Amino acid sequence: MLQTMNHMWINGEKVGLQNTIDVINPANGKVIDHVPNAGKSETKLAVDAASEAFKTWSKLPPKERSKFLLKWADHLLNNRDELALILTEEQGKPLSESKGEIEGSAEFIQWYAEEGKRIYGEVIPGSSEEQRITVLRQPVGVCGMITPWNFPGAMIARKVAPALATGCTVVLKPASQTPRIAIAMFEQLIATGIPSGVANIVTGNPKMIGEALFEDERVRKISFTGSTNIGKQLMKQAADQVKRISLELGGNAPAIVFPDADLDKAAEAIVGNKFENCGQMCNGINVIFAHEEIQADLTEKVISLVQELQVGDGKDPVQLGPLVNDDAVKNVERLVNDAKQKGAELLIGGERLKDGSYASGSYYAPTVLSNVTLNMDLTKEEIFGPVAPILPFKEEEEVLQFSKQNQCGLAAYFFTRDIGRVYRLAEQLDVGMVGVNGTQLSVPQAPFGGIKESGMGREGGHYGLEEFLEVKYISLTLENE
Ligand code: ADP
Repeated sequence: MLQTMNHMWINGEKVGLQNTIDVINPANGKVIDHVPNAGKSETKLAVDAASEAFKTWSKLPPKERSKFLLKWADHLLNNRDELALILTEEQGKPLSESKGEIEGSAEFIQWYAEEGKRIYGEVIPGSSEEQRITVLRQPVGVCGMITPWNFPGAMIARKVAPALATGCTVVLKPASQTPRIAIAMFEQLIATGIPSGVANIVTGNPKMIGEALFEDERVRKISFTGSTNIGKQLMKQAADQVKRISLELGGNAPAIVFPDADLDKAAEAIVGNKFENCGQMCNGINVIFAHEEIQADLTEKVISLVQELQVGDGKDPVQLGPLVNDDAVKNVERLVNDAKQKGAELLIGGERLKDGSYASGSYYAPTVLSNVTLNMDLTKEEIFGPVAPILPFKEEEEVLQFSKQNQCGLAAYFFTRDIGRVYRLAEQLDVGMVGVNGTQLSVPQAPFGGIKESGMGREGGHYGLEEFLEVKYISLTLENE
């Protein structure tokens, strides 16, 4: 049985505060709980603890660190259903997705528990008979982690697991909308018996906690996932101390469907991706480019799948929950209105859901628009909602232009059976990740991340470990006997 989720964990101790922030269920607008509204002083205490713990944690043999990670994954899996409920209640996504997120988190943690044992150095031939060059890879130190609300469980696993596996210690600040799942996951980590101070969590004022992390010289690395605007700001803050930073920011992923594609499979993959997490996914499809020869067929198939989607409280058997809050609904309304004014045709949805049980939640109907053109705001900004805009195209070059001009460069998807096109296009698209004939990108062993304004650094695979490692080389001059 999990405990109450309204406290932080600092130096292995529960810490509560009188000053709190409300946590709201977006399915009904009700306050679920209150969590500490911490600021600089609590963050400093967490960094003190992480800094002290680093001295011993970083020296533990990897296989010892691995045991704590494996136990953490076991605890998450053993408490999967309860954790999923906590996640759904504050984030909104359907329980089935929340359960998948907890399982996926455990998978990441297990993967890094093993990969942490394979952090190898190097021996390089010297430049003289006496010289011996050895390269070490050492943990960066205390890491500050700032996570978003859209995958509030998975983002923690993807950052904390590789950091701990390398021997770093962490101070995590979760998003204010979704702090309880973060606290619950940390509770499970602390329950493994991990030494005090290795993993700390501070909830509250983003600006204050952020400043405390950036100003503290003992924090040697920041890992951030969130909006491009905040990411840019944090990159400037990192400059003061030349602090290492990795950024996983916004995306504007196209899905491109060529005439030779299997249209049924393409439609299924597109709808599955587009409407997952109510469209609130950085690597989610933002715009669908349908080749003019198959545009009508594809649109029909997409519509028939979207018609089946049930919207409601994530605790009920639905495919779409509410958006994270009312601001998110207003943003979707703005983008759809702009598109309609500029000539887009509304094929299904296109409005806030507010009758009956929808009245007090943040719901928006699954929406499909056609006749979309590139002057519409929803092709330039992340929609972050359940809206699928379809644009016709003729030549491969048009979609390449879209990718080149796009400030974001996180992901792109395309559907074709032409093997020549697979390589030609995949190599030229200006993104960090390409999905061909499928949309699954987030797996533990692969490097997730983007280029351009979508960020820097990678999460997943051995690349994810590099983010938390420094390279040091030792040059030894042998003395003649
Ligand atoms: P979104 O708009 O999707 O909420 P944000 O970039 O605002 O994305 O939030 C992502 C994470 O960054 C959250 O944990 C949020 O609290 C945190 N955050 C927001 N502003 C700041 C800031 N000035 N300094 C540090 N962290 C911040």
